[in-house]
Amino acid sequence: MIKFNVPPHADKAMEYIQECVRNQKICGDGNYTKKCNEWIEKRTGTAKCLLTTSCTHATELAALLLSDLKPGDEVIMPSFTFVSTADAFVLRGAVPVFVDIRPDTMNIDEKLIEAAVTKRTKAIVPVHYAGVACEMDTIMEIADKYHLAVIEDAAQGIMASYKGQALGTIGNFGCFSFHETKNYSMGEGGALLIRDQKDVEEAEIIREKGTNRSKYYRGQIDKYTWMNYGSSYLPSDMNAAYLYAQLEIADDINEARLALWNRYYENLEPLAGAGKVELPVVPEGCVHNAHMFYLKAADLDERTALIAYLKEKGIMSVFHYIPLHTAPAGKRFGRFHGTDRYTTKESERLARLPMYYGLSGDEVDYICDMIKQFYV
Ligand SMILES: *Cc1c(COP(=O)(O)O)cnc(C)c1O
Repeated sequence: MIKFNVPPHADKAMEYIQECVRNQKICGDGNYTKKCNEWIEKRTGTAKCLLTTSCTHATELAALLLSDLKPGDEVIMPSFTFVSTADAFVLRGAVPVFVDIRPDTMNIDEKLIEAAVTKRTKAIVPVHYAGVACEMDTIMEIADKYHLAVIEDAAQGIMASYKGQALGTIGNFGCFSFHETKNYSMGEGGALLIRDQKDVEEAEIIREKGTNRSKYYRGQIDKYTWMNYGSSYLPSDMNAAYLYAQLEIADDINEARLALWNRYYENLEPLAGAGKVELPVVPEGCVHNAHMFYLKAADLDERTALIAYLKEKGIMSVFHYIPLHTAPAGKRFGRFHGTDRYTTKESERLARLPMYYGLSGDEVDYICDMIKQFYV
């Protein structure tokens, strides 16, 4: 059986976790959390990185940092995304306004965003699907013109870039995920990337239950106190230790994934050339991270049959997402702006193939052979 996903793991993880246990340093913001933050800051060039308990929480933290976000305000995002993208803003009483996607990248169609802007719009949340960047130049121009915040859902985007800039560092805030299904993992975890130094202090406060404890630990003040509303978004240092072992070999992991991705692509190109399937598109200027490999079948029925066929052959493939605007909560809390030309149609065609650090080239070849067999 070829699994769809195997959580990434680096050999040093156990040694680092044991060190946390031995030294009785297992709470938040310990040595490994600092190492992860610094690694991400150095690697992406962001002003500040704060490790969090999940990408969902990083997005919540970003929403809490939009101090003028009021109930009834609107936030523009794609409907083809994971629920967390919307949840963070719905929790604040804001209305997700869903905009259609581009069929090539499955990312929000940047050309449709401006028409969805109203007096109540406060933010745009681009989601970099599969680690392939949204058209950020256009998105940032619209944000500047209407004074909107940009929060990048870069859950899938670590190690990927847009015109040389790391994903998650272009908007005001960027959110990474270190869930076990992502390229780098700490079980459950994430990170908030903060572009502007002016937002750092408030972010530290909200992440630490509304207190200025971070400043206190740095010795900048002699007692700490309650400054603002807040919550607790600190992961245990043991989780950070597990992650840090992978960050140390981040390039190896990335290269291994890209090799698998390219192998899929080359194997399946003839099938795409014959018009049987569609393969992912990576626009010029975008460097992706092989977060996933997907293909598109002709329609829902063909996709269902393909996934069932692969399962018979011992291969686990999956689909996602149920467009948010068609889900019960999406209907209750949000609205779709314009027409759904591609969101539903394209999401019904998409099948994700096995992709993880440790998958072998032979396994990729076998998967591709079985796909070709399905299409003869
Ligand atoms: C995985 C994912 C999330 C949520 O990440 P968690 O760390 O599990 O909270 C959010 N958005 C997208 C696009 C994702 O793929």
